[in-house]
Amino acid sequence: MADQYARVIIDISHEKVDRPFTYRIPDSLSGMVKAGSRVRIPFGSGNRERTGYVVELSSQAGYDRDKIKELTGLVEGSVTAESQLIELAWWMKERYGSTMNQALKTVLPVKQQVKGREKKYLRCLLDSESLSAAYEEAARKKYRARARLLEAFVSTSVIPWETAVSQLNVTQAAVKPLIEKGIVVVESQHQYRNPAETIGRKGESGERAYVNLNPQQKAIADDFCRRYDSGIRETALIHGITGSGKTEVYMEIISHIQENGKESIVLIPEISLTYQTVMRFYRRFGNQVSFINSKMSAGERYDQFERARKGEISIMVGPRSALFTPFLNLGLIVIDEEHESAYKSELSPRYHARETAAFRAKQSGAGLILGSATPSVESYKKAKEGIYRLYTLSERAKKDSRLANAEIVDLRRELAEGNKSIFSRLLQEKIEDRLEKGQQIMLFMNRRGYSNFISCRSCGEAIKCPHCDVTLTLHKDGRLVCHYCGYSTERPKICPSCGSPYLAGFGAGTQKIEAMVQERFPGVKTLRMDMDTTSRKGGHEEILAAFAAGEAQILVGTQMIVKGHDFPNVTLVGILAADISLYAPDFSSGERTFQLLTQAAGRAGRGKTAGDVIIQTYAPDHYSIQAAARQDYQMFFKREMAYRRLLHYPPTWGMVTVQMTCPDEQALAELSGRLEERLKSGLSKLPEVELIGPVNAPIYKLHDLYRKILYLKSENYDILIKIRKWMEDFFDSGESRKDLTVQYDFL
Ligand code: ADP
Ligand code: ZN
Ligand code: ZN
Repeated sequence: MADQYARVIIDISHEKVDRPFTYRIPDSLSGMVKAGSRVRIPFGSGNRERTGYVVELSSQAGYDRDKIKELTGLVEGSVTAESQLIELAWWMKERYGSTMNQALKTVLPVKQQVKGREKKYLRCLLDSESLSAAYEEAARKKYRARARLLEAFVSTSVIPWETAVSQLNVTQAAVKPLIEKGIVVVESQHQYRNPAETIGRKGESGERAYVNLNPQQKAIADDFCRRYDSGIRETALIHGITGSGKTEVYMEIISHIQENGKESIVLIPEISLTYQTVMRFYRRFGNQVSFINSKMSAGERYDQFERARKGEISIMVGPRSALFTPFLNLGLIVIDEEHESAYKSELSPRYHARETAAFRAKQSGAGLILGSATPSVESYKKAKEGIYRLYTLSERAKKDSRLANAEIVDLRRELAEGNKSIFSRLLQEKIEDRLEKGQQIMLFMNRRGYSNFISCRSCGEAIKCPHCDVTLTLHKDGRLVCHYCGYSTERPKICPSCGSPYLAGFGAGTQKIEAMVQERFPGVKTLRMDMDTTSRKGGHEEILAAFAAGEAQILVGTQMIVKGHDFPNVTLVGILAADISLYAPDFSSGERTFQLLTQAAGRAGRGKTAGDVIIQTYAPDHYSIQAAARQDYQMFFKREMAYRRLLHYPPTWGMVTVQMTCPDEQALAELSGRLEERLKSGLSKLPEVELIGPVNAPIYKLHDLYRKILYLKSENYDILIKIRKWMEDFFDSGESRKDLTVQYDFL
């Protein structure tokens, strides 16, 4: 038999070893080594034993056969991942610029033993009537945790202890009285099975949750399935307003895929991946579903991937990383809320789940469905060009649910007419009205991480870069700086547009807003949801549950509050300063603002009572705000695309950002200067490429590291990839320093 060779990548994350080494496969391992196997190999002159991934098998040695060493052995018990995933890793590395190791670590789950740990479950012994009585009693006595648990038992009789703790925020102390009364028993099982094990049990007894799709929903599901069955594999974009029933459409299609013996992956942004969302899938598909989330340990996630690999489940629900579920017969990938920024990885490879899903779908002959109420301009452009198949859901799925009436309030007028409060007169009126009626209110502050820009409280203008049309950022030394091109200017004393002296930074925090609510509406119960209040495990879920249970009349929060839950009793949403997110120093700030406002507005009027949305803003004429108020996606899209086209921003042009990070400020400056020089001379022959920068990054110094960034724009994507490779060579060619890291980002 001819010799077999394996190309192996060493399991260390360093650029310099980022190429495969060739090893001979010894006869004793013949047939056992596969693409994806982890193997032990002798490495370097000392033949120290290392482990590596096989990325390829070959009968060709590639070079001098006699110098090739042999594999020492297989790493016992490691997953043999599908070669498809390794091929996917290769594609990600090429596409996004990372090491093969980083790409492989992203796509391949690392074996993590869940040590023979005992798994505890809570089982409810009550019938549904006594259960609701027990729930009502707990709710009346304000035993909140207990009430949450009992409520969860309505749809399932068994809940894993861990789920009770992490998702429902229930403590031992809260369960104890239930055990003593014989309402709940604790059971244990040795082996880890399913993160919500028996949630599907109800379903098995014939009580699965189906809705009858309305004609719009049905037309979409039918059309997609018909085309799927005739062998067409394509990307579909479902543009459906908030509450139009997209999830039901996904489930209908998934069910069809299942009948075909194929598997499905459903991506949902982590923040929307609530207990209720997961339960919807369980109720319909029972134990065929599993999910992963970031609160689970690596071992628990690994277990679920193993179950997928063994064919025990056919549907995986999870965030971005669920894309790498090792299904063998993948038939469908769904990406819900496809516009969400969470689908973009912050770690190298900085992949986008949408694009990576497209590659994986193509590889395995699967279909791809994107869904959103506010599709990314990128996806919508493709849909309009016929690259994606476009489906539209234009009505709310529940008969009696209506879209809210939105009104824009001009904060410049409020100031001019003497109201200095952060609540406009109209908003105050509406809040009083709802408080009186015992209905609920959400107050929303769409703050970004850093919103240190300057704007005029009289005319509403934010001070922008004359070259880039993005907001200038206020630095500590008092200068205003453009983070795209480096332009900087003195902080003006009066507004350049109208001469008003009322120039100010922007944006009260949610804590301050909560205090102002209490001052203005004394005695009203409020809840606050932001980074501070949700950082605790389960905090997010707990606050939403408390609000749903009516424990407060007003919920104050950041963008977190606009996701997920239906609150039928919310009839007023107040957006306190709609334009804040417009002034992020970023070309997509208008898009982000439109998405946030539309989602926020979608929170009002989920129930039978029509809701109101009050949008307070200094920029009442901005198209993002106008379009969100009218829930008019088409208007938004047209204006946004005109802006992108004019300034050569994606998706009309491709754009690469290159960020260089170094602890030595001087060295970084010199290196980036040299790179700029070389790039400029090279680019003089490439007029179709625009170079901006290098400039200091938006946060120039972070954790004692200095960061510089440059942008390359071109209509020609391939040229951008070539330039990236050229830069990789530049940094490899001795120009670089050990302490310098370079990060490429494709937009
Ligand atoms: P989206 O994902 O578009 O926001 P959902 O699928 O969550 O919408 O549906 C919103 C609400 O409407 C849910 O409570 C869902 O159960 C309900 N719903 C969806 N489709 C139907 C239907 N055909 N009939 C009745 N209720 C529906
Ligand atoms: Zn002004
Ligand atoms: Zn600029």
